[in-house]
Amino acid sequence: MIEPPANLSVWQKPEAIAGDFGSVTTQAVDLVVVGAGVQGLSAALQAARRGLSVQVIEAASLGEGASGLNGGQVIPGMKFDPEALVAMLGPERGARLTEFSAGTADAVFSLISNEKLDVPHTRTGWIQAAHSETAMAAAAQRHRQWRAHGADVTLLNHAEIALLTGAKGYRGGWLDRRAGTIDPLAYVFALARLAVAQGVRIALNTRVTGLLRDGGGWRVATEGGGEVRAAKVLVATNAYSDTLVGGLAQSLVWLHSFQIATAPLPASLADIILPHGQAVSDSRRILVYFRKSPDNRLVLGGRGPMRAPAGAEDWQHQERALIRLYPVLAGHPIERRWFGRVAMTSDFLPHLHEPEPGLLMVAGCQGRGVGLMTALGAPLADYIADGDPSLLPLPISPIRPIPLHRFRRVGVAARIAWSRMLDRLER
Ligand SMILES: Cc1cc2nc3c(=O)[nH]c(=O)nc-3n(C[C@H](O)[C@H](O)[C@H](O)COP(=O)(O)OP(=O)(O)OC[C@H]3O[C@@H](n4cnc5c(N)ncnc54)[C@H](O)[C@@H]3O)c2cc1C
Repeated sequence: MIEPPANLSVWQKPEAIAGDFGSVTTQAVDLVVVGAGVQGLSAALQAARRGLSVQVIEAASLGEGASGLNGGQVIPGMKFDPEALVAMLGPERGARLTEFSAGTADAVFSLISNEKLDVPHTRTGWIQAAHSETAMAAAAQRHRQWRAHGADVTLLNHAEIALLTGAKGYRGGWLDRRAGTIDPLAYVFALARLAVAQGVRIALNTRVTGLLRDGGGWRVATEGGGEVRAAKVLVATNAYSDTLVGGLAQSLVWLHSFQIATAPLPASLADIILPHGQAVSDSRRILVYFRKSPDNRLVLGGRGPMRAPAGAEDWQHQERALIRLYPVLAGHPIERRWFGRVAMTSDFLPHLHEPEPGLLMVAGCQGRGVGLMTALGAPLADYIADGDPSLLPLPISPIRPIPLHRFRRVGVAARIAWSRMLDRLER
């Protein structure tokens, strides 16, 4: 039985999934997937659909990684716009990644609708809200580029954004109607349920401790002395990567993203605050993002301390942002607080690695992993099944540990403090 975790921000608990999820198979399999987040489950599902035998092994319970904890914003595209991708990667690679990234939200919502998944969701778009004139000019650029690609996007002026968000302080922004929101934990459970129905085995609370080359395949060791043989391995551990693959954790900087959820809003406020259910991220250096939950809570997130939180005061930045945007919510109770890890790479692009034949991994979603990791499941499974890299949307690159990685997080913490101050000065 997979029970939904009790300690997370859950408004509509997914139903438990029946079955035996404690043990790793003793049979050799085609693919072992390490990590049961969206990346691992989407790739496992797609690989099973291509006829492969798949064992997923997860160190924690289902939904305890970023995939069950995130902001539920399903946003297509990458951090970079189409023109920047072409400038960075060249016309062919840049265009291919643009094309792929344009469809990542479609991948989530098509799966939900085609498989009739029990996942609360909305698809009324995502707003990138501009807090300054410079940010407004950037929003106009993004809007122009995606419009040229045929995306359903609209530039918003001050009055329009005020009406759509009910928030104070934005000059305008742009609305991307391809985007939407999901309940993240329900989504992880739905993916797991689909994967299991397709024949995927999932073992929970079992850490993978070693990967050993064995002839043409792999021996995957788990804590407690278990072992499974696999032709190929996908390490889908992302921001929660440990020492399993040399240099992988050091090639990423993970940040903490902290979230709060208010008590459900009364109807009078729910009609003014995000009345059409869009997701919002803003343009500040230390951005905040927010949406309404299926039960009408305002859920708001942003960067938190690099260390684990010591108490409710570590969510102060989010609480201050909430009141700045919605003064009417002063005194409205905050009922939930939680946090998780977001993996960033040094070039702000996701990285696909295959350090040895048959050992794959994707890491670094820069806070856009819900759509990206769902959509990557199919091409990853194709590559795992056929070995043809030509259809992969990302190039396979070597793992490059960030120099002085140990000190990098200290530098990031200092930069966050500095950026927060600049954001305050621009208010
Ligand atoms: C607070 C927060 C808000 C976010 N908001 C958004 C958002 O609104 N929209 C968006 O698109 N993205 C968002 N993201 C990012 C998004 O959640 C991630 O990019 C995405 O979920 C990554 O999925 P994944 O499967 O690669 O990794 P994860 O979901 O993190 O899964 C990795 C799993 O690997 C497991 N693991 C690690 N080591 C081992 C091991 N040795 N053995 C076995 N298992 C192991 C971990 O326990 C974990 O469950 C947010 C992230 C956070 C933390």
